[in-house]
Amino acid sequence: MTARSLALVLLPALGCATATHHHRPTESGLEVHTLTLDHSNAHLVVTADGAFLVDSATPSRVDDLVEAIRDAGVEPAELRAVILTHGHADHAGGAKTLHERFGVPIVAGVGDRAMLAAGANELLCPTDWIARKRLETDQNLRFESTVADRWVAAPTSLARLTGIRGRVLPMAGHTEGSLVVVAGEVAFVGDLFRGSIVGRTATTHFYICDLDDNLEDLRTLLEVAPDATTFFTGHFGPVSRAEVEALIIARGR
Ligand SMILES: [Zn+2]
Repeated sequence: MTARSLALVLLPALGCATATHHHRPTESGLEVHTLTLDHSNAHLVVTADGAFLVDSATPSRVDDLVEAIRDAGVEPAELRAVILTHGHADHAGGAKTLHERFGVPIVAGVGDRAMLAAGANELLCPTDWIARKRLETDQNLRFESTVADRWVAAPTSLARLTGIRGRVLPMAGHTEGSLVVVAGEVAFVGDLFRGSIVGRTATTHFYICDLDDNLEDLRTLLEVAPDATTFFTGHFGPVSRAEVEALIIARGR
């Protein structure tokens, strides 16, 4: 079976009714619960010092996200923050509801302020046939106008935002306000790249407008997160550091 025909078989199955939930404890004691709704990952990070959420699913799935957070043993009102890796609807869509219903502070990159206010994705540039097939649907997704409680414009201490050690780093590219969150030996990279649909390799994301700039960002990521061994992606994944290095080599040819 070719990769293309395999993807055609698997893609319709991505819109599951309830969240799939993968729980991954790490050596540094931080626990990552990846909650996947449709094709988007939200990552619930639980530590002895508290919990926070990275990304918030699509707007239509926020009730399922809330249920999944509770199933993971965390009451949404206890979340220290929801950090948006970027302002696309499938990552930012549930944030306003989490804020209004549970008082969860929203953290986002200042470069995505206009997109979050508009509640609409800015121009998407497909990189492969899957994205071209999905483009019209993804481009037209809408979500509630969202305002962050904390805008990130420069490298920022995660402890200042959540009480949990780590860093939040602006990495403009996929969107102007894209952020990377680094904590312990893990990094949350949003759509800087994605995991492969089958297996655990790192793959170019579905939508990237400037591929050269994206390749530079991949190199920068490994420099600014030298201790990160696992990279949690917005779609599929996670992937190992070796797989990110392999993607950089493949893309640099
Ligand atoms: Zn995106």
